[in-house]
Amino acid sequence: MAKHTITVTWDEIPADADPDALVGGGFRGYRCDCGLPLDRRVNAELHAMENDMCSTCLGAAEEVVVPGFARPCTACASTGRRGPQLVWQAAYGEAEQVITIGLLRRVVRGLPEPFALSRAADEVRALLGLPPGRLPVGPRVRDLLQRLAEDGEIALASAPDELLHGTEVVLYRDPLWRRVPPPLNGAS
Ligand SMILES: [Zn+2]
Ligand SMILES: [Zn+2]
Repeated sequence: MAKHTITVTWDEIPADADPDALVGGGFRGYRCDCGLPLDRRVNAELHAMENDMCSTCLGAAEEVVVPGFARPCTACASTGRRGPQLVWQAAYGEAEQVITIGLLRRVVRGLPEPFALSRAADEVRALLGLPPGRLPVGPRVRDLLQRLAEDGEIALASAPDELLHGTEVVLYRDPLWRRVPPPLNGAS
């Protein structure tokens, strides 16, 4: 029985590397122990899925964000397996249904500033009567806060915990946020 262990190799990363490409799977090569050449990220993901491995961490149970920095893979609960990843995806889908942007906006309005991601997640859990661990509330709240930030409704109020590559690729564990007041003459 062939063993499928997918290995990630790193290319030279230029100092001005595009942060999204760097975090999103670029500047890497992939190969599998079975000898299958995996030139692109998408092929590595498909091969991982075919072999019952998590398509986010490719079976490694941890995500290597940049060379020398890895974190436990949340998509598969650090198992590296496809089954737990599917369970997580279904739970995340359910969280998307119940934790809407409107709900989070209401929560954000009521929190004293600056407020932490974890505090907003606790508030959402309390509001919906969800016991901890029932749904991936934290990841869903994190994604929605990101969306409010992109829309200019809130802004980061804390410094990153880690600078991973220059000042562009950074890591926040439990960032603080503050609300951005709407422009005085702005129609809303
Ligand atoms: Zn293989
Ligand atoms: Zn994984």
